[in-house]
Amino acid sequence: MSIKAIRGFKDVLPEEIGWWQKVEGIAARILDNFGYKELRVPIVERTELFARSIGKETDIVEKEMYSFSDRHGESLTLRPEVTAGAVRALIEHNLAADGRPVKLYSIGPNFRYERPQKGRQRQFYQLNVEAYNVAQPYIDAELIILWTRILDGVGLKDIQMHINSLGCSSCRPQYNRKLQNFIKDRLETLCEDCRRRYQTNPLRVLDCKSRGCAETVQEAPLMLDELCSECGEHFQAVRKALASADVSYEVTPRLVRGLDYYTRTVFEAQTGKLGAQNAVGGGGRYDNLVKNLGGPDIAGIGFAMGLERLIMLLSEDQELNNPGPDLFMAFLDEAALELAFKLANGIRAEGFRVEMEYTPASLKSRMKRAGKLGAEWVLILGPEEMSRGNGILRNMSTSTQEEVSLDEAVTGIIKRLKGDKV
Ligand code: ATP
Ligand code: MG
Repeated sequence: MSIKAIRGFKDVLPEEIGWWQKVEGIAARILDNFGYKELRVPIVERTELFARSIGKETDIVEKEMYSFSDRHGESLTLRPEVTAGAVRALIEHNLAADGRPVKLYSIGPNFRYERPQKGRQRQFYQLNVEAYNVAQPYIDAELIILWTRILDGVGLKDIQMHINSLGCSSCRPQYNRKLQNFIKDRLETLCEDCRRRYQTNPLRVLDCKSRGCAETVQEAPLMLDELCSECGEHFQAVRKALASADVSYEVTPRLVRGLDYYTRTVFEAQTGKLGAQNAVGGGGRYDNLVKNLGGPDIAGIGFAMGLERLIMLLSEDQELNNPGPDLFMAFLDEAALELAFKLANGIRAEGFRVEMEYTPASLKSRMKRAGKLGAEWVLILGPEEMSRGNGILRNMSTSTQEEVSLDEAVTGIIKRLKGDKV
């Protein structure tokens, strides 16, 4: 019996890769415009790094991590998200030492042991973007603006940006108590998880997808009403900066995030099209995270977008532009293979996309293949024209063809491919 991929782990096949290359290419270009540099961190880190940063009372750390002991008995974990590793790298390499903004992004896989379903895999890719050393609200807005540009750039429609503020260590504890009191009187309406976690992490109840919890929190007190004056001003300044860039968003007072490290601004891009998996990505500020992981006391903020979900949405209302080769080599018998091979490589060296196969075939089957590949031109190397030292160059879109001399083959053909007069 053949071996299959693990449940929740997926191959990205050549026929789909165009989506990935498109999204990653557009994102990289926009991130470059905004001055973000790529950071590549390992896929495996010490388990403790995630437990300490993400928070023990989170879905991820409680039940979703791929953790294992290595041969020396050290507990390691396949990264469930990128921020923890990025902060570790930032501290380890002193990237924030000069006090200037540090702006980073990464694209790569994450691993979470969840029930696989639409929009939910066990290995999934994220674009992760973060900025450190900037406490000013402009960076919150900048991340939302650049994310919006990426979503527009790839052509995603029907997506809504939601923002909220979760306050800080001076106003959140007080709000938490208020929320806890509210919840305590309504415990019987909550799911089992929330009955337990409202004590340690009451915000998570606002985020719970089970119906009883969602209905109950409709009336709950809101963090936005309890922000301290600094957090309130910060939030207003973020909104003002967003308005200056004409970015549309909605203030969603019950928006919280599944990870413990967020402070102040949080944001999420949501769609109505993915069922329960309605978030294409989310992020927020984490001003205490670097310090909590043993680094300097500097601000941090970032977002992560799931690329499978993004691509799923795109492929619902876009066709992938999959251009065929510039030239297809139609050699008809064994005698022409050597020349076809040589010409193909010569023309490729000039920057053209040339496709060929390696066994002789009839003209009819070659032309069928060239059509299927969407080739723009076909070079036919049949015995008759070759005996005159020529090949036939056929333009597939105009269905016109002419004999070309094989002596000047590469130069003659590329002139025609470029549309120059010969
Ligand atoms: P969700 O509420 O969907 O579980 P989350 O809050 O756990 O999301 P984050 O940790 O914020 O997700 O990750 C950001 C994005 O990464 C998500 O919005 C989603 O697009 C993507 N993502 C997260 N988990 C998965 C998964 N198991 N499979 C595919 N994509 C995922
Ligand atoms: Mg999740």
